[in-house]
Amino acid sequence: MAQFADIIIDITHEKVDRPFQYRIPQALQEQIHAGCQVDVPFGRGNTIRCGYVVGLSDRAEYDPARLKEIAGIHAGSVSAESQLIQVAWWMKERYGSTMNQALKTVLPVKQQVKQQESKWLRCLLGRDELKDQIREAVRKKYKARERLLKAFLDADVIPYQVALHQLNLTAATLKPLIAQGVIALDSSVSYRNPSLLMQEGGGDHRAGEGNDQDSLVTLNDAQQPVVDDICRQYDAGIRKTYLLHGITGSGKTEIYMELIDHVRRQGKQVILLIPEIALTYQTVMRFCRRFGSQVSFINSKLSAGEKYDQFERAKNGEIQIMIGPRSALFTPFRNLGLIIIDEEHEGAYKSEITPRYHARETAEYRAGLSHASLVLGSATPSVESYTKAVHGIYGYYKIGKRAKKNSYLPKIQVVDLRNELAEGNRSIFSRTLRALMVEKLTNQEQIMLFLNRRGYSRFLSCRSCGEAIKCPHCDVTLTLHQDDRLVCHYCGYQIRRPSACPSCGSAYLAPFGTGTQKIEALVKEEFPDARVLRMDLDTTAKKGGHEEILAAFAEHEADILIGTQMIVKGHDFPAVTLVGILAADLSLYAPDYRCGERTFQLLTQAAGRAGRDEKAGDVVIQTYSPDHYCIQAAAAQDYEQFYKKEMEYRKLLHYPPACVLMTLLIGSDREELAHRAMDAVFRIARKQEGRGQFQLIGPVNAPIYKLNDIYRKILYMKCENYDILIGIRNHMEEFLKNQSWSSRILVQFDFS
Ligand code: ADP
Ligand code: ZN
Ligand code: ZN
Repeated sequence: MAQFADIIIDITHEKVDRPFQYRIPQALQEQIHAGCQVDVPFGRGNTIRCGYVVGLSDRAEYDPARLKEIAGIHAGSVSAESQLIQVAWWMKERYGSTMNQALKTVLPVKQQVKQQESKWLRCLLGRDELKDQIREAVRKKYKARERLLKAFLDADVIPYQVALHQLNLTAATLKPLIAQGVIALDSSVSYRNPSLLMQEGGGDHRAGEGNDQDSLVTLNDAQQPVVDDICRQYDAGIRKTYLLHGITGSGKTEIYMELIDHVRRQGKQVILLIPEIALTYQTVMRFCRRFGSQVSFINSKLSAGEKYDQFERAKNGEIQIMIGPRSALFTPFRNLGLIIIDEEHEGAYKSEITPRYHARETAEYRAGLSHASLVLGSATPSVESYTKAVHGIYGYYKIGKRAKKNSYLPKIQVVDLRNELAEGNRSIFSRTLRALMVEKLTNQEQIMLFLNRRGYSRFLSCRSCGEAIKCPHCDVTLTLHQDDRLVCHYCGYQIRRPSACPSCGSAYLAPFGTGTQKIEALVKEEFPDARVLRMDLDTTAKKGGHEEILAAFAEHEADILIGTQMIVKGHDFPAVTLVGILAADLSLYAPDYRCGERTFQLLTQAAGRAGRDEKAGDVVIQTYSPDHYCIQAAAAQDYEQFYKKEMEYRKLLHYPPACVLMTLLIGSDREELAHRAMDAVFRIARKQEGRGQFQLIGPVNAPIYKLNDIYRKILYMKCENYDILIGIRNHMEEFLKNQSWSSRILVQFDFS
């Protein structure tokens, strides 16, 4: 039983690292926990203030006789912060971090910003005038103005924040339009009535994606039972986690909106997580139309102040629905009733900084605290979630058909690239893909070419000595860019392309590897008349580059879009009737037990891009491993087939979810220290292994051994029992903390 509590009076980001220790009176010892709101005597006058418990211990930091005592548990309702501090405590325990790091993750930075009102842009023009203005903007090539005016074809009013962040407009674009009386900026208006946001006959300018009058949609016979079932359970007081497994376009978003509405009508609040890349203007506006000013959005482009402001509005009850990426999970709603995670399988839900929390697990914990339900949606559920559904831990619903009438699943063909080569075709396009490309281009339909790889990886290597040119700080090759720079994609180091090999001096340096730029060049060579757009790290680097390319493609300003993973998410392109996956194998042989799952997900998503409207779509998967189960299952669009094989593999090799995997990374700028520390903890782990309860792999060098001048070693520990791993972790941490060199090493635990 803890006798002392760390308490913070002011829970703003900056102040959390200055807690005060208090004594817990005997009578309260059972009730005090992290997050608890307590009354304490504070300052010289010992005025009673309310504080939050953020830590518990048996040890007094100073003379225990001089510690003040907690006066009592604070009366009144539990605040949102109290709950978030409890979440932080759980994260610290679960993922291994300090309480400080965890608190800083869940509490926004307090900023002295003027509270922003909810501002809206309103169009003042009649429909014909608006169309005239659009024509003029097009003629003068005012791209930003054109985007805004076209958006007003769909909606009379647009939230100011949405115009800035999703339409990528600046105040400078808006100002003259306001001055000319084209639009008005309304402050503090409340659009509770969603019909205000609808333009009659709206959405005729963009073929297909137009008919977005979502509030008019009647759910179909696959959607309605899901909504009915979850709502019935909700009203009966049942709270649990549900997996909604629906193919792309099956109408999951419509289901979310119904559920949100149901919960909101009971005076409760809702958090919807969407991967940032999928939080497009179209998606945002769908929710605005339905929920008006009750909904708010956050994204990573917001400043700390803007985010704080949004969170304050949530706390004050001005908004009921928060939509955003991972961190929206920490919205301080008082009466949270529902959390929804769209695309729950997405890697972006796992934090890459300490505490390395997973939004799905953390959402489950928070939902438990606030008596809320959790809905996970995906076309390709994570193996973890599907396993829980199979075991009845999660409720499960499956939708296998598309919601829109006359919208069909694409025809998928797998092409064996080995045969192409054997029959003398050395091009990156198989004969099947090329023939389809010709056909679609003739019909003026659109094509997406997908390179199953992150960014690209063209590097320079020496044909004399074989040496590749690497970053001096990181153990990776430098990437060659078109402007002849060599860039490290990890640390940003760059040099001009050298004329001779730095190792042997030979002039015979040549580029290796195929990237999106290379493919663009090849496409232009083979289809000189086609208009081509490329989307990768380079073309999207500038602010808004990503949205601009997608918008241009949606407007049919190009026939072919080439890109990496980025192009398979978010936007709906009704005119795309062919998706070509150039080399499905690229992600299949990554050094990670999840690469099969990721490949299946990517291929399925990419295939889902084809033929979302009336025209039937084609998908061509080019591969050197046509018999691999991930490729077979993706081609058959058969999730169960994939899952069965994947679980066999994970069970055989003891990977999650058949096991818990703990990864320990130890790094140091001094190579021998990294080794010494790893050797020491390895010995600790070895002792445990003797008991036969768990399995050790390694230690090995990290896939990128040297990163930013830090040498990194990795040890994997697998065990069916999570608590055993936690015990070992605590033991290792304690040991490392007590070494004289502990300040020179970096220690990172990760669970999956
Ligand atoms: P998902 O989120 O599963 O990809 P969406 O909810 O975005 O699917 O729906 C895909 C398309 O089908 C959207 O254009 C949506 O407006 C439309 N849609 C969804 N449900 C219905 C329905 N019941 N009737 C008609 N159209 C629908
Ligand atoms: Zn050389
Ligand atoms: Zn580097």
